[in-house]
Amino acid sequence: MPVDATLPYDDSNIFAKILRGEIPCTKVYEDDHALAFNDISPQAPTHILVIPKGAYVSWDDFSARGSDAEIAGFVRAVGAVARDAGLVAPGYRLLANAGTHSLQEVPHLHVHIVAGRPLGPLLV
Ligand code: 5GP
Repeated sequence: MPVDATLPYDDSNIFAKILRGEIPCTKVYEDDHALAFNDISPQAPTHILVIPKGAYVSWDDFSARGSDAEIAGFVRAVGAVARDAGLVAPGYRLLANAGTHSLQEVPHLHVHIVAGRPLGPLLV
């Protein structure tokens, strides 16, 4: 069920539980600002989710309320995950859904990193 990303942050979401260690994940990266783990239902050979540690619903929420340090830290973390996973060549795709039209399922900002095969054009 897609989420209404205009609603206030709800810390009962699944990624908040992963951040609190209440449910497990396959962690691939962690620093002060971000946690990255494998998607439970991968859409490509590599499918990693990167989430900020702060409580933000979407990219627009994060960019409005996040501190410069959080935003810079998160952006650097996404790049570090891609580099560490060896994805720079032959490449990868970043995707962040926001709101019902995008079919966002989890109301905690996450960037999908998908890679490992030719991905084809973006579909709308
Ligand atoms: P969205 O549609 O919100 O952009 O993407 C949510 C993603 O989270 C989906 O790709 C889905 O497979 C993944 N996901 C949902 N629940 C879990 C979970 O409990 N653990 C992990 N690792 N991924 C999850």
